Formats: sequence, C-alpha cells, structure tokens
Amino acid sequence: MLPLVALVGRPNVGKSTLFNALTRSRDALVHDEPGVTRDRNYGVCRLDPERPFVLVDTGGIAGSEEGLAGATARQSRAAAEEADLILFIVDGREGASSIDDEILAWLRKVDTPTFLVVNKIDGLDPQTALADFARYGFKDVLATSSAHKTGIDTLLARALAALPKDGDAEILDDDPERMRVAFVGRPNVGKSTLVNRILGEERMIASDVPGTTRDSIAVDLERDGRKYRLIDTAGLRRKGRVEEAVEKFSIVKTLQAIEQCQVAVILIDAVEGITEQDASVLGAVLDAGRALVVAINKWDGLTDYQRQQNEALLSRKLAFVDWAEAVRISALHGSGLRELFKAVHRAHASATKKFTTADITKAIEIAYETNPPPVVRGHVAKLRFAHPGGENPPTFIVHGTRLRTLSDSYRRYLENFFRKRFKLVGTPVRFIFKEGE
Ligand code: GDP
Ligand code: GDP
Repeated sequence: MLPLVALVGRPNVGKSTLFNALTRSRDALVHDEPGVTRDRNYGVCRLDPERPFVLVDTGGIAGSEEGLAGATARQSRAAAEEADLILFIVDGREGASSIDDEILAWLRKVDTPTFLVVNKIDGLDPQTALADFARYGFKDVLATSSAHKTGIDTLLARALAALPKDGDAEILDDDPERMRVAFVGRPNVGKSTLVNRILGEERMIASDVPGTTRDSIAVDLERDGRKYRLIDTAGLRRKGRVEEAVEKFSIVKTLQAIEQCQVAVILIDAVEGITEQDASVLGAVLDAGRALVVAINKWDGLTDYQRQQNEALLSRKLAFVDWAEAVRISALHGSGLRELFKAVHRAHASATKKFTTADITKAIEIAYETNPPPVVRGHVAKLRFAHPGGENPPTFIVHGTRLRTLSDSYRRYLENFFRKRFKLVGTPVRFIFKEGE
C-alpha cells in the first residue's frame, strides 16, 4: 500500500502551498493537460519516483464541534489518525498561537508519528523561528519555506525514512502472466455491480489473495484462459459495518489501487456524464502513468436520442485522453464485458510493449526529418538518438541538444508520431529529454 502522510495545522500556515510543492508532478506536460482536474485535498507525492506516498491536506483540524466546521474537523482528525506520518505545520513568522496549542493537545493523544514543520522561514533566522516552538518538545523539527521550496528536500528525506517500505510486495510479487486491473470511479458508478458480475460468471475461478489485509483486498481470477488480479476497489470490499469508516478514505484507496494496477478501468456513469471527481480520478491515472480503459456504464438506462447526445459530449470531455478506448457497458445486464476485456488487453499489450534502441532511434529520426522543430531565437533543437526507458508507461529517453527549446506542441507531435508508428492504444507515453552531444 502507498503510505499516507497527513498535513495538519491551523488555517494560513502554508499547508496547501506545501501540498502543491510536494504533489506537483515533475512532468509539466501531464500536469497541465487541459481537462485534468486536481484534487486539492489528496495527491500523490512522487518527488522520489521509487517511493510515492499519498498526501492528505486536512482542512481545519481545530474548529468548533458544530456544523460543517465540526464535520471537517472530525474528518481531518480521522485522516490524521489513519496516517503513517503527520506533518504538523506551524507559521514561523507568527510564532505559536493558541490554536496551535489546541492542535498540539490533540496530537499528543494520537499514536501517529509526528514531525513539527516550521514553515515560512524565508527571510527569518531559522534558530529564532524554531525557538518559539521549542516548548512543544518535538524530536523531529524541520524548517521550511514552502513558497520558496527551501527545506523540502530535507523534509522529503526525513519523511521517507520514517515511512514503511515495500508494503506492496504481497500484491505485486506474483506471476508475470497475471494482469493487475483496478476498477475505479466515484461512488455509485457501478463498481461493485461490475466486479460482482465479473466474479459471478461461470467458468471462472476467483479467490482472495492470501496475506492481503483489510486494507488491501485483491482477488485473483481466470477468465477465458487469462489470469487477472483485481486490485482493491470499493467494489471488492464487502459493504457492511466498516463501510462508513472506509468510505471516507475511498479517495486514498483509489489512489493506492491506481498505483498497484497495470491497467485502470475507470467507470463513468452514462446518465450523469463526466464530473469533476471523474476528471480528478483520470488525472491520478495519468500521473501514475497507468494504462487506461474508460467504461461508460449504465448504457442500458439511455434512450437512443440520449445515446447520441451523450456520445458527442463524452468524446469532447475525454479529448485529453483520446488515446484511451471508451467502451459502453451495462454492469447490471452484463453487456459489453467482452469488449471491455478486449480493450483491457490491448491497453496492457501497449503499456508493456518491448522496444529496441534501433526502433526508437529510427522513429525519432523520421519524426525529426518529417517535421523538424521550429527555430527559437536563432536556435533549433537537435534530436540525436533515443533508447527505451521502461514500460507501463512506455518511456523513451531522447538525447539531443537545445532540448529546452522544444515546445509542448512539438512534444505532443512526437508523442502522437510514436503512438501511430508503434500502434500504442490505451496507455500514456512518456518522453525524457537528455541534453548532451
Ligand atoms: P493553508 O491555509 O495552511 O493551506 O495556507 P496556504 O498554503 O493557503 O498559505 C497561506 C498564505 O501563506 C498564502 O498567502 C501563502 O502564499 C503564504 N505562504 C505559504 N507558504 C509560505 C512560505 O513558505 N513563506 C511565506 N512567506 N509565505 C508563505
Ligand atoms: P459503486 O458505488 O461504484 O460500487 O456502485 P454500485 O455497484 O453500488 O451501483 C450503484 C447503483 O447503480 C446501484 O443501484 C446499481 O444497481 C446501479 N447500477 C450499476 N450498474 C448499472 C447499470 O449498468 N445500469 C443501471 N441501470 N444501473 C446500474
């Protein structure tokens, strides 16, 4: 499982600024894709690509117990209690306040390891800034300026040292023939109905994956001679007494499931169309670089006229993932499932395709000759050669000079050129540009 880190602190200390600094994708192209919505409360920190973790920006933890503020406070506390690590953020400029003291009193009752992060130290003498909080008695104290991104590397290193490692072994160490698929989507789109439909089919063997805990439920199954591991989704969880507690963290579970899978199937409710929450789950799939299939569910509930209307609207809203296949299904009636599985296989095959250095270098040469990048301030980028940099997603490392001048649109051109040439469907594609002769 991806570890969970919670940001706790009173309003205005810089939690969201820190959240952004930690979760902003290095890959600006992925991040700035129009149509992607960012969840402002949950994100994955990938500053160390080997050790991603989920970050929760809890809202106001100190607040009255009544009304909306009370609900927010309770939720924040629950998130913090569930976390592997709490970062207690305070304002180094303003010093300790009574609300900080209240939060501290609460933190002392919680069993979660906690670092004190004294933020906004830009322009201050760090010793003085820290002194005001010495009486809090924290062993782990960090000084940051999230606005200027100072102290973030140290914070990251300390956090990673405190977080559990290799929690995914039980889910990931398995038969390479077994494809890991996650069914994701917002509540009520039909995930449980779909998963139960798939598991309920004849000629299929399903079993719980041994060693999986309450938090990481996975099911293995065979279908038409192929092996799958369905990774935790709300759909796999038995609904019941823990439902309420679990539901609150379904966003965290979704991020974790996306991380663990090779192919993410996102369910969309055909009747309701694409909501902001759907766009943010799609953004999480893109950030993780996972293969993607869009399943438009509840297709049975639409009239012919609605279907036509729908078709146009969906393709417009899904334009930013136009490389992903969209399949119309009805989980309720079990229609479209064969097509769905075919699309999953195509996406998986593309995502795990093997390339040689010769193939990729040739592709770069042809792409470059067909359409060289434009001259920028008297300079033109040169692409010299390329080699494979990994799979799921397919990653291409391109070497050349003046690569900084390559525009986003030229990068998109390369991506589309590669998609066509290598027939890649259903997977993001990454380019890493390396400057040098
Ligand atoms: P939150 O309410 O805790 O999420 O705080 P925000 O991230 O929204 O920040 C509150 C204000 O503090 C904003 O005006 C930020 O620009 C500012 N701020 C955040 N981090 C820093 C910092 O490291 N240094 C300075 N000088 N200002 C900061
Ligand atoms: P989940 O929260 O994503 O797991 O969604 P559920 O599987 O619990 O489904 C939510 C509701 O949508 C239930 O009332 C289902 O019966 C209904 N539903 C699910 N799939 C379909 C479908 O294909 N067609 C129709 N008409 N209703 C569906």
